[in-house]
Amino acid sequence: MTKPVIIGGGWAGLAAAIELTHQGIPVTLIESAKSCGGRARRVSYRDTQFDNGQHLLIGAYHQTLRLLAICGVNLEQQIQRSPLHFTFYGDGREQRSIRLPRLPAPLHMAAGIVLARGMSWSTKMQLISASLKFLITGFRIKDDCSVEQLLQREGQQSSTIKALWEPLCIATLNTPTHLASAKIFLRVLRDAFTKSYKDSDTLLCRNDLSSLFVDPAIKFIRDHGGEVLNSTRVNAIEIDPGGIHRVVTDNTMIDATNIILATPPSQAALLLDPLTEQLPQLSKLVESLRQFGYQPIITLYLQYGETCRLPHPFVGFDGTLVQWLFDHSHFGRPGMMAAVISAEGEHSDRSREQIIQTVTGEISEHFADLGEPKQCWLIHEKRATFASTVDVDQIRPANLTPIPGLSLAGDYTATGYPATLEGALMSGIASTHEIIDYWNNCSEY
Ligand SMILES: Cc1cc2nc3c(=O)[nH]c(=O)nc-3n(C[C@H](O)[C@H](O)[C@H](O)COP(=O)(O)OP(=O)(O)OC[C@H]3O[C@@H](n4cnc5c(N)ncnc54)[C@H](O)[C@@H]3O)c2cc1C
Repeated sequence: MTKPVIIGGGWAGLAAAIELTHQGIPVTLIESAKSCGGRARRVSYRDTQFDNGQHLLIGAYHQTLRLLAICGVNLEQQIQRSPLHFTFYGDGREQRSIRLPRLPAPLHMAAGIVLARGMSWSTKMQLISASLKFLITGFRIKDDCSVEQLLQREGQQSSTIKALWEPLCIATLNTPTHLASAKIFLRVLRDAFTKSYKDSDTLLCRNDLSSLFVDPAIKFIRDHGGEVLNSTRVNAIEIDPGGIHRVVTDNTMIDATNIILATPPSQAALLLDPLTEQLPQLSKLVESLRQFGYQPIITLYLQYGETCRLPHPFVGFDGTLVQWLFDHSHFGRPGMMAAVISAEGEHSDRSREQIIQTVTGEISEHFADLGEPKQCWLIHEKRATFASTVDVDQIRPANLTPIPGLSLAGDYTATGYPATLEGALMSGIASTHEIIDYWNNCSEY
């Protein structure tokens, strides 16, 4: 039997490959870039290495933790796990701090709000009343609306939205509150805060995302008879009404009867579009894939003096361009910080130099002791995530396509989650079900 072919070696494609390998089905994984990992990978600039953007995982990433365990990753060594603790700085000093205690969920959330420092009772009561309402309604709403509309409907004042809901929405959906889908936001809140206190924990990578997942995943796939082809772009998929035949790359053709297409939606549309003439049942899917919008994320890595250290592994900011600052000295990289600006905004038109100048100025206003950074590297991922806008769920495709043997995987498929690592892995795993059934049926004969 020909090996299932997975096109795209991002986290979704790797998840599909691990899941199939784990079921005893070796795969061929094809990735166009020199290294796998897609939007979550290690990059090198001369002798300095960091991720293509700062990532934060949470305890509710159950599939991520499961696949890491399958690949034999030592979680203690690779991940720093802590109870959720947000501290926000503004006007040169600490403004608010919320730490969730180790209590059964969702009591831990209520206690965290009540005990929060720097928040008025009126703000705390608004947060508790909205959280109660969400709990009672099972974190569901009938018709989607924007996060801003939902919060206004629940009586949240604009100061409360700015202080807490907005940073939470942008951090999780990477979409501004006036555009972001309330349905997706509620799903994230439900999974992060209501099941177990451990789900709200923050998980930070001690090394980089490739050491955490990508490298162990590739090793696992290869050690179990699979192939990973890097620097190999798939240019065409050959399918006709008689079935799936092969994929065509720059320098070879690979026979296939099962394909998982694990590229971003725009690339999937390019590969599927030429097939629609013979296979009109794909037309609607191609149309949906073209409708996705995208949101950017900027990460500015800053190398300060080796003794520089923030009071917490990461802190938030009020009213500045920089939204979050992560201190990598907490994971063994003295003086290295990552400043994050998520989603589009008035900064979108600014030059790199203007952004660097503004962000470094804002940081030194709050943490004068840091001094000036010795070096900085700015990574602007223009299509960091699909935009989790109102009603985006209506265009998100299922894993199964109208063509038997052809599945889709990627954070953009219908997981109910925003564009996240966990969403990508959930999708990768779900995309394998048809192949596993097919393989099991074939091996019965
Ligand atoms: C800067 C940044 C910060 C983020 N922060 C977080 C965070 O804090 N927490 C979180 O959970 N998520 C975060 N995300 C989102 C997360 O990284 C993505 O949701 C996830 O990586 C998407 O994985 P994917 O496999 O679906 O897609 P991709 O990573 O886009 O993978 C698709 C792969 O397909 C390959 N490909 C495309 N076309 C072809 C072709 N023709 N032939 C062969 N290969 C092809 C691409 O090279 C790529 O490797 C962030 C993303 C970015 C960019």
